[in-house]
Order: sequence, then C-alpha cells, then structure tokens
Amino acid sequence: MKGGTTLKSRKTVDMTIKNKWIKPFNDNNPLVFKEALNNFKKLKDEGMLIDLYDEKKRFIGKGYYGNQNKGCGWIVSGDKNVVIDNEFFYQLLKRAIQKRKEFYDDDSTTAFRVFNGEGDGFGGFTIDYFAGFYMVTWYNLGVYTFKEQILDGLIRVAACKGIYEKKRFDKQGKYVEANDYIYGEEAPEPLIVLENDVKFAIYLNDGPMVGVFLDQREVRQTIRDKYAKNRIVLNTFSYTGAFSVFAALGGASKTTSVDLANRSRPKTREQFEINGIDPDSQEIIVEDVFNYFKYAARKEKRFDLVILDPPSFARSKKRTFSVAKDYVGLLIDAVNITKNGGFIVASTNYSNFDMRKFKKFIEAAFKEVNVKYKIRETFSLPADFQVSKDFPEGNYLKVVFIERLS
Ligand code: SAH
Repeated sequence: MKGGTTLKSRKTVDMTIKNKWIKPFNDNNPLVFKEALNNFKKLKDEGMLIDLYDEKKRFIGKGYYGNQNKGCGWIVSGDKNVVIDNEFFYQLLKRAIQKRKEFYDDDSTTAFRVFNGEGDGFGGFTIDYFAGFYMVTWYNLGVYTFKEQILDGLIRVAACKGIYEKKRFDKQGKYVEANDYIYGEEAPEPLIVLENDVKFAIYLNDGPMVGVFLDQREVRQTIRDKYAKNRIVLNTFSYTGAFSVFAALGGASKTTSVDLANRSRPKTREQFEINGIDPDSQEIIVEDVFNYFKYAARKEKRFDLVILDPPSFARSKKRTFSVAKDYVGLLIDAVNITKNGGFIVASTNYSNFDMRKFKKFIEAAFKEVNVKYKIRETFSLPADFQVSKDFPEGNYLKVVFIERLS
C-alpha cells in the first residue's frame, strides 16, 4: 500500500512542556496542545514524532504531531525507546480487537467500534466494524501518515472483507470528499448490518456519514424495549430515523421523524422498509425542527415520547444552532408538546461540557416552564467506545431519559 511515511524518514523532535501547563501531562492526559510547548515552531510536518520533557528534563512521553480540534498531537507511549512501526500497530489493534470479543461473538449485532482512538491508546483515528467490513476514520493529517502501518496491522489481526476510510482532517475537522474504498472487496450498497436484531442499511462510500451512529446502540435498545409500547413518538433531528425504527419495532402507536435534510425522507423510508414496517404508516417530515415545534404547539399536538438528538453545531438558511446556546430552548419546546407522564430523551455529543452541566440545562428548562420532572435513566458511551480514564473529555455522549411529571 502506497503513501505512508517510512520509519527512516520520520523525524523526532524534543519538546519541553512549560511548567505552568505540566499538570495534565503529569496526570497522563494524552492530548498535546500548542500553548503547553516551549518551542512549537519546531513542529513542521504533521506525522513527525515528539519526545516530550518537563522543564527539569524528565521524560514525559512520546507522541506525534497532528492538528485536531484544540490539540496539536497525541502522546502514544510512555516508553522513550518505543518504535512506532507495523508491529507496534499490530499489537495495539490486536489488544483492541481482543477486548471486543463479546461483540464479535454476538450474532444479533454486527456493527460496532473496534478501535476508539486515545481510549485504545492512540489518539487520532477510530475503526468501526460493519458485517465483515472495516471503516477507519482519520481525525488529523499526522495520523494519516501512519496509514500504511495501521492498515497492515489491521489486515493481519482481522479477517477484513474490505476496508473504507473517512478523512476528517479538512479545516475544522471537515470531511474530505473522496472515494473512500481502500482495500479488499467493495461492500454492497447498501450493506445490511444488524443491531440487536434490527437491520440498518449502511453506505460506506457515500460521504461523511454511513447511515447510523453506533454510539447510541444502548439508547435505541432502551427505547424499543422499555419506552415505546403504545406511545406516540416524535423523533427530532432524525437523520435516517434510527430511533423511529426502534420505537416502531417496540410497539409505538405512531412515529414522526423530523429532519431538515431532504435525504432524510428516502433514507428513513428505507430503514422502515428493510425492517418490515410500512413507511406510509409512519410520518416523515422534512423541516427545520424549530418550525415544527411552533407548528405542533399551534396545532396542540402532544406526544408521549420526544427524542432530541441535535448536532453540536448546525447552520441552516435562517439560523445557526449550537448546543451550548440553544439546548435549553430546545428542551422548553419539547416539554411544551410532551404529555404529562410522557418522556423526553435528551441527548448530546458535545464534548465541552459534562453530564453535570447537561443536567443543569435540563433543570433550567423545566424551571422556566414551571414543570416538574424526574430523571429516569442516563447513558454515556457503550463499552466498545473505550474511554481513557486519563481523558474524560473522550466520553462525549450524554443521554438522559426524563419523565414529565406535571
Ligand atoms: N438522531 C440521529 C442523528 C442526528 S445527526 C440518529 O440517531 O441517527 C443530526 C441531524 O440533524 C442531521 O441529519 C441534520 O440534517 C439534522 N439537522 C440539523 N439542524 C437541523 C434543524 N434545525 N432541524 C432539523 N434537522 C436538523
């Protein structure tokens, strides 16, 4: 496979961490950031290796240079003499895959994460499994220079039918438009995978998103098994309607899916169809969620279960949405069309605040409309999305099941 930087051509630079920024590094936090480095101008080519020291010349760790969100690289070993070669990645991936043995053994779920970046010891890339096919996502250009070694390791440890990639290192982590097929057989389009016996149609080579967000597996299962029966369900920011399909299979009396993107209608119809549900029996609306809330309030529509799973940031023609600024408003809109005794599933993948702060948003929203509530259960990332205890920001998912009491 072409395009990798060879071991010999990869440079290593020594860098000193300023004393005032040393705390997280002493706590084993793997994220390297520019402010902390004494001479970050020495960082030239993404992918170069960095040996980090404190001001007393004590070795802190070995990392690589790669710009990603707030960071400029990841520490990947505490061993100064480690060689980051094919064998290194083979061992790294072998460990990660062994940890997911239960997932591989479970025939009712054939889509899950096998490598979760820093949670599995190497920040900057993830690998997902889809019924025999693998999808590698690169989050910075630096890690992409290890592509040859990483793929070699993956092909050695796993029986890969085929491999796809997503390059997410354009400006601000945007997806780089490309042919994403890179190895082996091409996957059928769609590729049908299972999640707790429910089918998903997956498109591995059709832009940044493949059709499902694997991190919500437990939430979908919980909705199907505990919250859907005989309930009228509203699924907002519905994308391919994954929550709606689980709700319908769990016995919801009706689902309404709302998403701004035109593609959401055919995608959602397809998900219903492959699961044996007549899409015409469900409502699929292509519209701005905020308009839909106004319409539903005006028509005095009421739901038993409202699902809120917005993107962290979104720009539509009329407005920009950001979780930090708009979630309380979103919750207020949802509370107003939820029946007494009904439920709201509030979800966010915004990594800049934690569950405590998210619960404060919920408290503020219910206070504003003077409605009582009770939190029934909460979810964060499932076990295949391994999180490092030294990098709690990596545990970005927060989902809260809230009962509207009165
Ligand atoms: N809840 C989905 C994933 C949501 S992805 C799931 O479980 O699969 C975010 C979705 O929000 C995208 O499909 C995007 O089109 C949609 N979106 C963004 N802003 C929106 C808005 N203002 N109104 C409706 N949908 C919006």
